[in-house]
Amino acid sequence: MAKLHISSQFDSGSIEVLNLNDHCHIELKIRKDSAADFAQWFHFVLCGAMNLPIDLKLLNAGICSYPDGWTDYKIAASYDKHSWFRIDTQFDGEILSAKITPGANCIYFAYFEPYSFERHMNMIGSFTLSPYVFVDRLGGTSQGRDITLLKVTNTENSMLEMQKKKVWLIARQHPGETMAEWFAEGFLEGLLKKNDPVSCTLLDQCIFYIVPNMNPDGTVLGNMRTNALGVDLNREWCSPTLERSPEVYWVREKIIQTGVDIFLDAHGDEGLPYNFVAGSQSNISHSHLQAELEATFKESWTTARAGFQDQYNYGTPQRGSVPLSVATNWIADHFGCLALTIEMPFKDNAIDPMPLRGWDGQRSKEFGASALLPIQSVCSKLFKF
Ligand code: ZN
Repeated sequence: MAKLHISSQFDSGSIEVLNLNDHCHIELKIRKDSAADFAQWFHFVLCGAMNLPIDLKLLNAGICSYPDGWTDYKIAASYDKHSWFRIDTQFDGEILSAKITPGANCIYFAYFEPYSFERHMNMIGSFTLSPYVFVDRLGGTSQGRDITLLKVTNTENSMLEMQKKKVWLIARQHPGETMAEWFAEGFLEGLLKKNDPVSCTLLDQCIFYIVPNMNPDGTVLGNMRTNALGVDLNREWCSPTLERSPEVYWVREKIIQTGVDIFLDAHGDEGLPYNFVAGSQSNISHSHLQAELEATFKESWTTARAGFQDQYNYGTPQRGSVPLSVATNWIADHFGCLALTIEMPFKDNAIDPMPLRGWDGQRSKEFGASALLPIQSVCSKLFKF
């Protein structure tokens, strides 16, 4: 019988092994971010387990950052790192546990379908030769990884660059929210789909600035929420520094340079099993125009029947309750434009549940592509003003 082994020493791997001596009972601990106390992300491979009745226990689940995230949650698993499925999982308020008898000798487990930094680079590579894409390096992280921007537009079009609407999409400020980068990949594929009337119009009328991964260091380190320095990037937008938050510093500088008409920031929510958005209503400066554009965006996305809904969300926040250091709020305040945080579930989409898959990478990609429709609706309005 092969000896059991757990490994997480790979791109975005993360777990602490407490007890692996007993073949049936594996005791684990969800690891904190590399330089902060947030803990929720895990990703590891178990080998030597073929046909063994494995009982996984994550002993510190109840004291992790988002304990609500474990209610009705199922662990993601894969044999080939390509097809991911969900396994029966229980949470008793303290311990997250799952039983599985693996059908192969090695099996991967993760909080959500991972999106490695290697995949990130391959994805960017796949778009590099497109005539509509210009790949640019905005700057580097504290560990020397590139912050990469994809500028996407049709330069053959007669409309001058200055007349085009500037649409920004950033994703994965919180590295454990991998659905955000799946979303960005789907968004890019949708935008570059040949002979698609929506994308052709958008490429003519807009310049897209897309940062598919805002937090490369956190991604590789297997962090849930912070960069290599332990900083939550989505609390840095008022005054980012090269010492603490170079990721935000470089991207914000570029946004100030290009301007922005529509800003989207893709995230995942641990608790709510829905796709929804959070706007900038809490800003003192929130305008009627911003409210109108937000309503247009939400109505258009709901009508598209792509899995978006506007019934379950964070509710209407009190004025001033969300800090301007949050990307959406700072951008909306500084530019007076439409700015939205997009939230996707870690669990499943309760308006279209798929229990064997839960919410996953492919569904996030399709959802990302569907965001082109509400962008077109808002652009039509902006061009009329
Ligand atoms: Zn987030």
